[in-house]
Amino acid sequence: MSTFGALVNGKIVATDKKHPVINPSTEEVIADFYVANEEALNIAVKAANIAQSQWCNTDYDTRKKLLLEIAEIVSNNKNELAKLLTMEQGKPFVEAVGEIDMSIAALHHYSEQRLDSESLVETDNLKVEKHYTPYGVVAGIIPWNFPFAIAISKLAPALITGNSVILKPAPTTPLSTMRLGALIAQIVPPGLVQILGDDGSVGEKLVSHPDVHKISFTGSTPTGKKVMRSAASHLKRLNLELGGNDPAIVLADADVAVSAATIATIAFLNSGQVCTAIKRVYVHNDVYDEFCDTVVGVVNQFVQGDGLDPASTHGPVQNLSQYEKLVSLLTDAKQSGRVLLGGEVPNQNGYFISPTVIADLDDSSPLVSEEQFGPILPILRFDDEDEVIQRANSSAYGLTASIWSSDIELARQIARQIDAGTVWINKHLDLNFDYPMSPCKESGIGVELGDEGLKQFAQLHVVNG
Ligand code: NAD
Repeated sequence: MSTFGALVNGKIVATDKKHPVINPSTEEVIADFYVANEEALNIAVKAANIAQSQWCNTDYDTRKKLLLEIAEIVSNNKNELAKLLTMEQGKPFVEAVGEIDMSIAALHHYSEQRLDSESLVETDNLKVEKHYTPYGVVAGIIPWNFPFAIAISKLAPALITGNSVILKPAPTTPLSTMRLGALIAQIVPPGLVQILGDDGSVGEKLVSHPDVHKISFTGSTPTGKKVMRSAASHLKRLNLELGGNDPAIVLADADVAVSAATIATIAFLNSGQVCTAIKRVYVHNDVYDEFCDTVVGVVNQFVQGDGLDPASTHGPVQNLSQYEKLVSLLTDAKQSGRVLLGGEVPNQNGYFISPTVIADLDDSSPLVSEEQFGPILPILRFDDEDEVIQRANSSAYGLTASIWSSDIELARQIARQIDAGTVWINKHLDLNFDYPMSPCKESGIGVELGDEGLKQFAQLHVVNG
């Protein structure tokens, strides 16, 4: 069994503590890794500050070159990284390859980004200019649903804007990210990118370390609140990309066949473990039964199994605690809802829950009101547009939403009234590196992607005189 080391100050290092990684498809331990202890963390933070003091003086061409070299290494090792990703996360191998491809595309995208200074006033005796100065050391804290892509989505903007970065993967999915550390150790200046293994004891220490300057956190809302408290002691700059309970609203005039098939596909992507996936569907009474039948027809085709089996279209849930939460939500929902498909917890190894479609639940059911983050989709009825807007907005979350209708103007009007950072029309999960995403309410703080997202990695600095 392999033991994965942390990347600290340019070297792959061992520590006094190891932690196992379990394959969620088999429940077998597949590898372990060294957990960053206090000493490793302190060395990493010191090295990150030294590296950053030099990196911030490099020009954009130097930074671009490094991102493209990392992209090339990732590309040359795509199969190995994707296999590790499938084994630790559970997703089908083709989706793991897709995640690595998306990461390569992100590295290419950010390699072209610039935060140039801007002039506000320029006269003979006055210049007022905006400059974007790197914060220093960025801590990137990563969840377990897209561990590789989210790691890169922090590394790339941090480096191009002149920061150094310390990545901390989730305890259950560190392998592909730690392997990346070993692959890039020789080409990255020591301390500029570091990757720390964590058994659950490292995140809080990293966030509260006085010499870490900016926190880029992706994870659940409850943990995001803890991170905000830890960051408060030094008033650190903070991005929180948190949970969602994203509604889709299907109006009576929607193309039912297309909307149902698309929504079914997207809601169950990565076995429902996508922050911006559709988590509850509101369907107009006039088309409710037809919509449900089509969703069931699509979901019934899914083949659940080990992600390394080419026949599998859907993998397990990533970890035991998420599995237990879903079993509890499912047990509760079966009491009051109508199970249209699935509803079983297969008696086999692995954290598998059958893809499940449930109709006619009340909005107060925990499966509807909470973020399920798994392969169980509630479909709810509505009659009136004002009523459905109010129901969609009745959540503490506000990440994304979608409106499905053949009347685009009406859909746009409804979209403007939904509390979500992004609302799609007749589509969902249309992500684009150039389109900013800014969560509402308890789904987070700050912006990712677009110019606004890049600016979150730099201090705005005005020189006036
Ligand atoms: P989590 O909150 O349990 O963990 C996220 C990360 O935070 C992990 O690396 C974890 O080790 C670390 N962590 C835990 N306690 C910490 C602390 N006190 N201080 C600092 N770090 C700490 O989330 P998860 O279960 O790994 O991921 C699933 C959640 O992430 C879901 O709620 C999902 O919606 C959300 N998510 C959001 C986005 C987004 O862009 N909005 C993207 C992906 C996932």
